[in-house]
Amino acid sequence: MSKLVGCIEAGGTKFICAIGTGADDIRAEVRFPTTTPEETLGQAVAFFKEQQAELGPVAAIGIASFGPVDLNPDSPTYGYITTTPKPGWAHTDVVGAIKAELDVPVAFDTDVNGAAFGEYKWGAGQGLNTFVYFTIGTGIGGGGMVGGQLMHGLLHPEMGHMMVPHDLTEDPYPGHCPFHKDCLEGLACGPAIEERWQTDAANLPEDHKAWDLQAKYLGYLCVNTTLMLSPQRIILGGGVMAQPHLFAKIRSKTQELLNGYVQTPELQDNIDNYIVSPGLGDKAGRLGAIALAQALI
Ligand code: ADP
Ligand code: ZN
Repeated sequence: MSKLVGCIEAGGTKFICAIGTGADDIRAEVRFPTTTPEETLGQAVAFFKEQQAELGPVAAIGIASFGPVDLNPDSPTYGYITTTPKPGWAHTDVVGAIKAELDVPVAFDTDVNGAAFGEYKWGAGQGLNTFVYFTIGTGIGGGGMVGGQLMHGLLHPEMGHMMVPHDLTEDPYPGHCPFHKDCLEGLACGPAIEERWQTDAANLPEDHKAWDLQAKYLGYLCVNTTLMLSPQRIILGGGVMAQPHLFAKIRSKTQELLNGYVQTPELQDNIDNYIVSPGLGDKAGRLGAIALAQALI
């Protein structure tokens, strides 16, 4: 029997906290908007204190957080959200705030590594050792595993900010990224789509040329990822991927751009199984944080 653990999916818009033992056994869950660190982390602590009184103690808490974050256990700022442009949140000691109030081991990783780990345990990454999970939402982020280990390295991957070709005659939109303007996130995150076309992305009809452009940018993402990491699968989640017709366009753009260079069955006849949606849907982040907590104990 897996032990009872807690999780925090710490997003820039909302926090989701839960307690459970696995994907099929979530016993309590709460969500609240991300306001100030004091208020939001305080709400998380209050949830765990209240629920533990009813459900019993949790053995560990896993946190999958928006970033950038410090994941180096030897660093004095391990467990912090570091240089985020989100007002009030730069240099916030997230792990410290939880540990100070709840006396349990805490696992900490990026939101996308957390989601990738959830997919590995219970979703579209099962049985794989090298794969990538992307979220295409308010921003674009990527995480995942290489050789069975979550990717960390120098800091942690920031794949959403990769540079992609930007044809200004086809797409004069300058880009949304505060650091790079027209990196991938700057061109293809949800807010970029909405600013370029001056409407909610959810309202753009399926035959709108916005989606061909979007598929081109996400095709670059899949090609670059394939060439850099040779993943066994690419999982695309996040609010923008709620447009199911995008998958077919992205798959064919990826094949067109690769132009037959990488010869594997996955990239030819079986590409529907190579570029996929998350097996856990929008629950990958919090379930991944549950899995991160369980990996600690
Ligand atoms: P977050 O990235 O904040 O965790 P989401 O992954 O839900 O949140 O992404 C939110 C973004 O996704 C919004 O900014 C919006 O542009 C876009 N989005 C939400 N719903 C849809 C939809 N049905 N179709 C296309 N884009 C959407
Ligand atoms: Zn950028």
